[in-house]
Amino acid sequence: MPVIKVTLLGTGTPQPIMERFGASILVQAGNEVLLFDAGRGCLQRLLQINVPYDKINALFLTHLHSDHIVGLPDLWLTGWLISRREIPLNVFGPVGTDDMIKHLQKAFAFDINIRVEDDKRVREGSKLLGKEIQQGIVYEKNGVKVIAFKVDHHPDIPAFGYRIEYGGHSVVLSGDTRYSENLIRFAQGTDLLVHEVMVAPDTLNKSDPKYPQFAHHTTVEEAAKVFNEVKPKLAAYSHIGKLYGRNEQDLLKRTKANYSGPFIIGEDLMSFSIDDTGVSVSAWQKK
Ligand SMILES: [Zn+2]
Ligand SMILES: [Zn+2]
Repeated sequence: MPVIKVTLLGTGTPQPIMERFGASILVQAGNEVLLFDAGRGCLQRLLQINVPYDKINALFLTHLHSDHIVGLPDLWLTGWLISRREIPLNVFGPVGTDDMIKHLQKAFAFDINIRVEDDKRVREGSKLLGKEIQQGIVYEKNGVKVIAFKVDHHPDIPAFGYRIEYGGHSVVLSGDTRYSENLIRFAQGTDLLVHEVMVAPDTLNKSDPKYPQFAHHTTVEEAAKVFNEVKPKLAAYSHIGKLYGRNEQDLLKRTKANYSGPFIIGEDLMSFSIDDTGVSVSAWQKK
């Protein structure tokens, strides 16, 4: 058994494509099963790897952009219905999380009531408990520590990255960010760094209609700079944005031109096992 297992459930952006579902990453460490973001399709991806909703100990949101949370109602309600969860789910996130959860529960009150009365589901299992967090340790249980740190999701969107530590090992998840010195600080010494990226033409400038989208994220060259400064045992791209026909080949080439350490372009359901021997990667194989 690895000390920490990380599975990329969704490696995409808001684009509704089949190859890359919405942002969501599962981290399993000891007895803890922790989910980071709940983008489109996260419930289906969890079922593909046989992790039912009732096994999730907590959900951590990097920020409240819809591509990181649109899977939440499905995960929460369909998960509750099917896996028969009987305890509330703690949802950690930036300012705004409490409000969102309160309104979600209101929006779905009809369904919740009917499932309790008609389908005899346990009401307690339908509860979401929001916890708005600040930078620092936000969760500590069964030897697993989750540390939130501020990232730079222009223009000043409250957003966190997370560092998860267990058994002398760690993984760092960037969330959505531009090049962030704070991330580099919090990621020091990590085994695995999962980082977002936006691959776009070099010529993209401020007059381009897609520039605002581009300005929220990390360029390939900046990601390579982060990898060089953190020096993780392995770096992996997830939340891969592609503009004007740029693709994974461009991402590979431009990263290699600026970074000579080990890195991989993430795919949905790719998993990483972290232990004393290092970080090993497994692509998804349908059993
Ligand atoms: Zn975002
Ligand atoms: Zn995003």
